[in-house]
Amino acid sequence: MICNESDPVQTILEIGRRLWQRGYIAANDGNISVRCEDGTLLTTPTGVSKGFMTPEMILRVDPDGRVLLTPDSRYRPSSEVRMHIEVYRQREDVCGVVHAHPPVATAFAVAGIPLDRHILPEAVLTLGVVRIAPYGTPSTPEIPLAIRPFLRKSDAVLLANHGALTLGADVMTAYHRMETLEHTARILHKAMQIGRVQEIPPEEIAKLMEIRKQLNIPGRIDMPGRMNPDRFTAERPESGIRDATSDAGPNCL
Ligand SMILES: [Zn+2]
Repeated sequence: MICNESDPVQTILEIGRRLWQRGYIAANDGNISVRCEDGTLLTTPTGVSKGFMTPEMILRVDPDGRVLLTPDSRYRPSSEVRMHIEVYRQREDVCGVVHAHPPVATAFAVAGIPLDRHILPEAVLTLGVVRIAPYGTPSTPEIPLAIRPFLRKSDAVLLANHGALTLGADVMTAYHRMETLEHTARILHKAMQIGRVQEIPPEEIAKLMEIRKQLNIPGRIDMPGRMNPDRFTAERPESGIRDATSDAGPNCL
C-alpha cells in the first residue's frame, strides 16, 4: 500500500491538540506517527506536550528509528517510537499510528479486563474486540514484542498498566479509533456501574459484519466471539456483572 498523507505535519499537530484537550494524555505523554511514501516516518518528539507542538518539532526517522532530519536539535524522538516501528513492520496497510493513555480505556487495561463485549454498533464495526497486550517495560523491546500478535489481527490494542495504541490507513483514522475506543470504554464502564451489560445478539453482529464487508472498511478487527453464541449469554461471576448476555508544514516527501 502507498502511504500518501497530504499534510502530515499539520495533521499530527491537530491530533496532538485533540489528544491533550480530551484528556487522553497528561504532561508529555503520547506519541503520533505517519509513514511516508518513501518509507520514512514522521513522529512526535519526547519531552514536549503534544497539545502544544509546532511544525519544527516533528522529526523524520528512517524505518529503524534513526533520526534523518533534525530541524531543531533540541528535539528527539520518544523511545516509544519502537512501538510504531513494530506496527509498520507488521502491517503494510497502516500509514498512521497513535499512542495515548485515555483514562477509562487505560483503566480497563489496568484492571485486566479486555474490551471484548459487543455493546455498540460503531465499535463493533470499527474496533471489534480490543485485547490487552502483556505489560512491558517502557523504552525496552518488551512492548514491541508484546503487541506483535495483537496488532497483526486488530487496529486497536490496550497495553497492560500503560495505555492504548490505534492504527489506521491514515493517521486521522488511527486517531478516530482512539476516540471510539475511549468512548466505548466510558459507556461500558457506566453500564457496569448501572449493573447490567446487555450485548448485541450474535445475529445482529453477523449483520454488522456484512455491512463492514459491503462498506469495504479498511483495516483488521478481531472478532473471536462472534461465532460462539454462548459468549453472549454466559454469566461472568468473576466480575460481578450480570450479563444478558494552520501553518502548512512540509509534506511527507
Ligand atoms: Zn505511553
